[in-house]
Amino acid sequence: MKQTNTAERCDGCGKVTQLQDTHGNEFCNECLMVATVIKERPETIKRICTLIKSDFQHSEKDSKEYQSPPLLELPEVLDAVRYRTRDRDSNTWYVSISELEGNPVEIFASTAFDRDDHLQSRISNLTTITRLTSLILRHVFLGEVLTLEKTIKQLHRSSRQKNDLPDMLTNVLKSYSRDIEEKKEEKQV
Ligand SMILES: [Zn+2]
Repeated sequence: MKQTNTAERCDGCGKVTQLQDTHGNEFCNECLMVATVIKERPETIKRICTLIKSDFQHSEKDSKEYQSPPLLELPEVLDAVRYRTRDRDSNTWYVSISELEGNPVEIFASTAFDRDDHLQSRISNLTTITRLTSLILRHVFLGEVLTLEKTIKQLHRSSRQKNDLPDMLTNVLKSYSRDIEEKKEEKQV
């Protein structure tokens, strides 16, 4: 778990505050505490729900058949398989897939980019594809929940220079996220 310094929207309650990154989610202190208790002391949660007559347990039972697979943790070290492939211009590419229990959960790609005039923008486009694909793979195989904020965050981190493709997409999508838009306006003042 690492501390992040930027104030962004909590994946749990939606509050904009200092967040802590934990297994693909970023939580405020309160939500992190709740998440930790739910994860580490499920028996206590069940007992307390019974004691205070909460319908939490009941509603959980009702929705069991619609539930997504349990949230798996991404370990520090993963097995990776490297594939060699060629694009239409006969450039060699290396695609590295990190696997967890035989499922792909992260993807990286690299090539030499020989004599390429648009190196920076090609790298940022490549980073965008692999970051978004990895986000989707973590959703499919690890149960990580996708949000607009997480999508924007990965686009923003893929950008290498102002007004490259991921930067343009970040700015367009930001307008759909009110809290992030407010921060942008503060910056422009
Ligand atoms: Zn929260």
